[in-house]
Amino acid sequence: MKKNYFKPLILGISLFSISVFGQQEKPKYNYQEAFKPFFYQNNATETRSASGKPGHNYWQNRADYNLNVSLNEEKNEISGTSEITYTNNSFDDLDFLWLQLDQNLFKKESRGSALLPISGSRYGDSTSEFEGGYKIKSVKIDGKEAKYSISDTRMQIDLINHLKARGGKTKIKIEYSFVSPNYGADRMGVEPTKNGKIFTMAQWFPRMAVYDDIMGWNTLPYLGPGEFYLEYGDVTASITVPSTHYVVGSGELLNQNEVYSKEEVNRWNKAKSSDKTVIIRSADEVNKATKVAKGTKTWKFKIQNTRDFAWASSSSFIVDAAKINLPSGQKSLAISAYPVESDGNDAWGRSTEYTKASIEHYSKQWLEYPYPAATNVAGNEGGMEYPGIVFCHMNSKGESLWGVTDHEFGHIWFPMIVGSNERVHGWMDEGFNTFINDISTKNFNNGEYYKKQSLQRMGNFFFSENLEPVTTQPDNMRERNIGALLYYKPGAGMTILRETILGEERFDKALRQYIKYWAYKHPTPEDFFRTIENVSGEELSWFWRGWFLNKWTIDQGINSAKYVDGDYKKGLILKIENFGQLPMPTTVQVNFKDGSSQEVKLPIEVWKRNTEWTFKVPSTKEVSTIKLDPKGNLPDTNLKNNTFNMADERPVEKINPKEYEGTFTNKQINAEFVLKAENDKLNLVFNSLSFPLDYQGDGKFINEEAGLELTFAKDKKTFTIEESDQKFEFTRK
Ligand SMILES: [Zn+2]
Repeated sequence: MKKNYFKPLILGISLFSISVFGQQEKPKYNYQEAFKPFFYQNNATETRSASGKPGHNYWQNRADYNLNVSLNEEKNEISGTSEITYTNNSFDDLDFLWLQLDQNLFKKESRGSALLPISGSRYGDSTSEFEGGYKIKSVKIDGKEAKYSISDTRMQIDLINHLKARGGKTKIKIEYSFVSPNYGADRMGVEPTKNGKIFTMAQWFPRMAVYDDIMGWNTLPYLGPGEFYLEYGDVTASITVPSTHYVVGSGELLNQNEVYSKEEVNRWNKAKSSDKTVIIRSADEVNKATKVAKGTKTWKFKIQNTRDFAWASSSSFIVDAAKINLPSGQKSLAISAYPVESDGNDAWGRSTEYTKASIEHYSKQWLEYPYPAATNVAGNEGGMEYPGIVFCHMNSKGESLWGVTDHEFGHIWFPMIVGSNERVHGWMDEGFNTFINDISTKNFNNGEYYKKQSLQRMGNFFFSENLEPVTTQPDNMRERNIGALLYYKPGAGMTILRETILGEERFDKALRQYIKYWAYKHPTPEDFFRTIENVSGEELSWFWRGWFLNKWTIDQGINSAKYVDGDYKKGLILKIENFGQLPMPTTVQVNFKDGSSQEVKLPIEVWKRNTEWTFKVPSTKEVSTIKLDPKGNLPDTNLKNNTFNMADERPVEKINPKEYEGTFTNKQINAEFVLKAENDKLNLVFNSLSFPLDYQGDGKFINEEAGLELTFAKDKKTFTIEESDQKFEFTRK
C-alpha cells in the first residue's frame, strides 16, 4: 500500500520532537542488555532451519481458484462463483476450514467499521450509510451443501470427514455477490470519469485463510490497516462485463482475439517487441467510442504461482504497453490503463515507461519478475499492489506517479513473491519495499526523481516517544504511526544494515538469499533475521533488538579531544561515548587545519563492553574539527555532540611529571600509592604494578584501562580519586 506520509511532514515532526526530547530523562546505554545471548525464541524445527532456510520438512498448503463473475455496472455489483481446490500439505488432518471474507469489512456492523474515528480514516468513513459485504448464496464442499458459519470477515466450513494430512484435497464452491464500495479502504473501489466508471476490483472473492506451522489457522479479522496473508496457487478468472469495457487483470489474457479488435491485436503485437510505449487504445478512440453497450464480453485470465488476483474494468481506459526485458532473456509486458483525465506526458502517459523501468530494475537487482504482464491501473486508491497488477491514483503525476508506481510494483517482491504475513508483520513488506524503492529511484533515468535523504536528521522522528516498536502489529499501532513504523523506520533499518553495518555487497547477497529461500513461501521475522546473520556471518541480535523489537535510540558523542602530551605531532586522544541504548559501529572524521582529513572506523565490538571509549588517532597535524558519522548515515537524537571544535578546547599545558612524584596515602581506607616519573610520564605504582598516566590538563591524570582518574590540587600536595560517587583524598607523605 502507498506511503501516506510525505517528506516535509517528517521534517516537521523531527523539528518538533527535538525540543520535546531534551526534557525527558533518557535511559542509559547498557551493553549487557544490548548484546545479551538467547535472542531467538525458538530453535530450529523440521519446517524452519536455524540458518533461516525453510526446514527439511517445510510444508505449506495450496489454494487454486477458478473464478467466474459478472459485473453489473449500474449497481456496482459483482456476482458469480468461486471454486477453490484446497490441498492440505500439513502434517495435520483438518477438521474444519477457514476462509477470508474481506468484503464484510464494508458491512455497517463490522469490527473494522466500529474502529473508524469520527475525524476520518484512510480505511473508511464513519458517517457512510453504505451497506456492503458478501451475500453468500450457497457453499458446497465436494459437491454437497456445506455447514458453515460467518463471524465478521471470516467463514468457517465444517468438514464431515477430515481433510487428510500430507496431500488431502477438497473442492469448495461458493456462489456469492457483493456491491462494491466506491472507496474500499483505499484498496479497491469505483470511480466515475467522463467516459464511464473505473472498477478496480480486489478482495473480491472468498479466499482461503492460511494454515501454517506458526499459528495453525490465521484468522485475524480484516480491520483495515492490517493487510493480507494468503496461500499460493494458480488462478483462472472469467470476468463478464459490458461490451464497451476493457478489462486488465493479474497474469495473462487468454482470449485476446475475442475481446480486442484486429487493429488492437496488431498494436499488442507491436508493443511486445517495443521498448517504447505503444498505444493500444488512444484517448481519441476512448472519447469517440460508443457509450452504449451491446450485451457483454467475457475476459479470461490465468496466473500461476500467485497469492491473489485483482482486475480492473472500464469503458474509459486508454491502454498502452511496452516490452519488459528480463535478465534471463525472457520478456514480460508493461501495460497501463487510465482515463483521458489522467493522460499526458507529465502524468499517466509515462506510466508504462515507469512500470517497465521498475520491473527491469528489481528483476536485475533481486529476483526475476515471474509474471507475463505488469499492469498499472489509474483508480481512486492512493496506491495498492496485487500480483501482476497495481492500482495507483488517477491524479498522480510526475515524481509522485513514479514514486507510487515504483512502490506498488516493488511489492511484487515483498509480499507477492516473498509471502510474509502482512496482517501481523506489516514492516516485512512495506519496510523492505520502501528500502528497495530508494535504490530503484536512484537508478531510474539517471536519478530523475532521486533526492538523497539524510538519515542523520531523522533521529528524532524515528525515536519519537510516541511511536510503538516496528514489530507491532499494524492493527495494534496508532493510524498516524503507520507511515513511520511500517515504511520509513524498517526501510531505514535496511539501509543502515547495507551502508553502515554490512556493506553493500554482503547485505545484497544476504537479502537475495532471503528472497530466494522464501520465494512463494511464508517467512517469519526470525527467518529473515537468521538468514541475514547466516549469509553475512555477522551477529546482529543487538540491531534486531534495538531497531525492530524495541525503540532504542541512537546517540553517540565526542566527550573530549586532546593532543598527546599537548603536542599535535604526537597524535590525538579522542574520547567518545555511546549515550543511546542502541550501539552502532562508529566512524570518526578528523579534519586538519590544512584542509585534509583522516577517517577512523571503530567496529561494533568497541561497544560490547564499554559505554565510552578512548583511543589514539595517529595524526601529526593540527586539528580543526572532529566529526562523528561524517556522511550522515545514522539517525542521531543529539547532533550537537557529534561535532567537536578543537578551538574550543584549551590546549593542555606542558607539565614536568617529576613535580608530581611521591608517596600518597589515605588514612581512612588505609591505602598508599606511589607516583613515579618515567620516560617523561607519570606512573602510578600499586602492589608492584605500574600504571602509566595520561595528563588531561587542569591537574587531571587518567589511565583508561584501569579506570583510574586522579585530580591534583593546585599545590600538588594532594590528589583525589573518585569512585562510585565517593571522593578519596590522598596526601603526600
Ligand atoms: Zn506499500
